Amino acid sequence: MGTVAAVTGTTIAPGTARAAPAPLKTDGAARTTTVCPFCGVGCGQIAYTKGNELLHIEGDPDHPISEGTLCSKGAALSQVTNNPRRLRQVMYRAPGSSKFEPRSWEWAYARIAERVKATRDASFQTKSGGRTVNRTEAIACLGGAALDNEECYLLVKAMRMLGITYIEHQARI
Ligand code: SF4
Repeated sequence: MGTVAAVTGTTIAPGTARAAPAPLKTDGAARTTTVCPFCGVGCGQIAYTKGNELLHIEGDPDHPISEGTLCSKGAALSQVTNNPRRLRQVMYRAPGSSKFEPRSWEWAYARIAERVKATRDASFQTKSGGRTVNRTEAIACLGGAALDNEECYLLVKAMRMLGITYIEHQARI
C-alpha cells in the first residue's frame, strides 16, 4: 500500500477498496452424491447440476472409501458428459457392413432381447454327464466397476435366471 501511494502520489484510505468474492459456478446448483464409474475403487463424488446441465464434479468428503479424494480420471469426469464428441445415440454396424448407422434405443433393446432369446434357445443344455444343469454356455455377462452392490445383485439374479454361468466383473480383470 505504501509503495503504491509513493509511486502514484495517491492515497487509498483503509476500507474504501473491498474485494468481493467471485460467485462460485456451483452457487444454486443441486448437489447429488454418486460413484466414479472408471475403476473398481469406487470413489465417492458429488455432482453439481442445474436442470440438465452438469456444472462440476468433486470428491465426496463423507464417502467412506475415498474421503473426498479423486485421482486425475475421477477429477476430470465431468468432461465425459460435457464433451461434443460424446455419442448420444446407438450406433449399429450390421454384419459384413463397413459403416455404423444410428438406431433408436427402443430398436437396440428389442434387438438385444431377440439375440439373447435366439442364442439361449439354440444353446440351452438341460443335462451334462447325466446331471441337471439348465444352462447356456453361449452367453457371457461382464459387469462394470460402477455397479454398486444392489445392481450387481440384480444383474447376477437376472443372468442366473437365464441360465448364464459365465459371469465376470471388470474390477477382477
Ligand atoms: S477417482 Fe480414480 S481411483 Fe477413484 S474410482 Fe475413479 S478412477 Fe478409480
